[in-house]
Amino acid sequence: MINGVKPLERSLRWGMVGGGGTSQIGYIHRSAALRDGTFTLLAGAFDIDAQRGRAFGVSLGVPVERCYADFQTMFQAEAAREDGIEAVSIATPNNTHYAICRAALEAGLHVVCEKPLCFSSQEAEELAALSRRQNKIIGVTYGYAGHQLILQARQMIADGQLGEIRIVNMQFCHGFHAQPVEQDNPSTRWRVDPRFVGPSYVLGDLATHTLFLAETMAPMLKIQRLMCSRQSFVKSRAPLEDNAHVLMEFDNGAIGSLWCSAVNSGSMHGQKIRIVGEKASLEWWDEQPNQLRFEVQGEPVRILERGMGYLDALALQDDRIGGGHAEGLFEAWSNLYRRFAVAMDASDRHDEALLKDFWYPDVNAGVMGVRWVENCVRSADNGASWVAFS
Ligand code: NAD
Repeated sequence: MINGVKPLERSLRWGMVGGGGTSQIGYIHRSAALRDGTFTLLAGAFDIDAQRGRAFGVSLGVPVERCYADFQTMFQAEAAREDGIEAVSIATPNNTHYAICRAALEAGLHVVCEKPLCFSSQEAEELAALSRRQNKIIGVTYGYAGHQLILQARQMIADGQLGEIRIVNMQFCHGFHAQPVEQDNPSTRWRVDPRFVGPSYVLGDLATHTLFLAETMAPMLKIQRLMCSRQSFVKSRAPLEDNAHVLMEFDNGAIGSLWCSAVNSGSMHGQKIRIVGEKASLEWWDEQPNQLRFEVQGEPVRILERGMGYLDALALQDDRIGGGHAEGLFEAWSNLYRRFAVAMDASDRHDEALLKDFWYPDVNAGVMGVRWVENCVRSADNGASWVAFS
């Protein structure tokens, strides 16, 4: 159980690129990083508009001289300080991730990067190699993956409670962009512009989250081939898709499907995963994150509740409030940032034993997301044909 005791003796000196006052995702990064005292926010290049970023940083309590106009100046100036930052989070539009992540690693910083890590698997592999060379970690914010019930599912599958896995049914389908809302909303505008998001919209923006939930729950499944059909129901978004269906074949003979959409009218978030084994199934839905359905063939449905003593130790270790009270996205993110801090500290101490089996969305998760999107686009643009996963 997490009770406020710090997992580390120190607090990592931390900065942010992006995540400014008008951003969608900046606050949850700060809320998660600051929750357990594992990070202290000391510097930032928070905004594309330097003046606005400085004013925002100061309002957060960051010293004015450490609110920088851009990430290059920040990395250089912080490296020259004895108390310079040790880690940075990148919460900017997607087209900037690669350059900022690369510069951060070169400056000797640990990185927490928004998804997608970059646009091509070649760039992703480069970042992975650089992080290894620099002995710096890259954490990727697949937020809900930090929810305890995801690790509960992982343990139940590892224990064989489902038997051999046959079907992985995934979806992440909201309805917020059923109309061309980007015309009035700057946070949505860049999401449907290939100059900012590269080759995909919902495949990269939404589906990679759910794909990582599946990887976490059933890490033994490896994709052999996939096919993808994608559509731009709001025509002005073409060639970027606002809806896609992906079929995947795994190496054990299992089949997976992933429906991702921003035009699922009426749906709030719609991220669900159902894993079907030969004996039983597990199902989790992010709109009711405190419940995990466990359905054994021929028996009544069991709803496993977060925070209850019957859960696995792996799930209970990240519990913050006990069963009955709702935990959700903010706690899941806090659990991820807590793990990022532990991994950064272990990496600084060269604690290979800790890192060997320590789960968090790491650089490999980032690389996998990029590769998966690349394969989906290749299939979709080739008439929705099957492609070997490469
Ligand atoms: P946004 O457009 O709302 O905000 C972007 C922020 O970055 C703004 O403050 C902007 O001023 C700043 N910015 C832009 N370019 C910059 C630069 N070069 N240097 C410094 N600051 C810069 O975008 P958002 O919705 O907050 O998304 C940001 C990132 O977070 C994207 O990669 C997005 O995919 C990701 N995201 C992830 C999740 C998640 O659940 N993990 C959810 C939403 C968004």
